Order: sequence, then C-alpha cells, then structure tokens
Amino acid sequence: MKPARTKRVKPKVPAPAAVIRLTPEHTLQRAAKRLLTGPQTRCPKCDSTYVGREPAFIHCRLCGKLARIANAPLELQEIWEMRSGLRIAS
Ligand SMILES: [Zn+2]
Repeated sequence: MKPARTKRVKPKVPAPAAVIRLTPEHTLQRAAKRLLTGPQTRCPKCDSTYVGREPAFIHCRLCGKLARIANAPLELQEIWEMRSGLRIAS
C-alpha cells in the first residue's frame, strides 16, 4: 500500500514589521499617555466614580485599575501604604 501523500505547505512570510526608533521623545510621549495629569474623580479605564484617591494613584474599586498621577511623589505613597497597614515596614 502506498503511503498517503502529504500536502506541501508554503512557508508563511511574516507581515512586514515597522521599525520604531526608541528615542527619549518617544518614551516621554508614551509615558504621558499612561500618567494622569492630575487627580480625577473618575476611573480612566471604566469611567466609574467608585474610586479611591491615594497620594500617587487613583485606585478604581470597581475594575481594580491603579492609575498613576504624574508628578505625584512615590515617597508619600509609600508612607501612606505603611500607615494604612498595606505594607509591613522593613
Ligand atoms: Zn475602573
């Protein structure tokens, strides 16, 4: 008995990729999109008003999003977390 012939499959050519140069300006633009410009009363992801204000973040209690506020000091966030009992002081 003759073995079944296998079909030849053409090798797939990947789609042409765009090369993006990682310049400091590009990085700053990306960071500006991720950071909030100031404290907000709404979640940037799900637009809920059930948010908690933390020193450096807006914490959505509905979807769990933690949105970083630009120029807010992380030292204050750390102190706030230790005082709230969310962290064990080391
Ligand atoms: Zn949310």
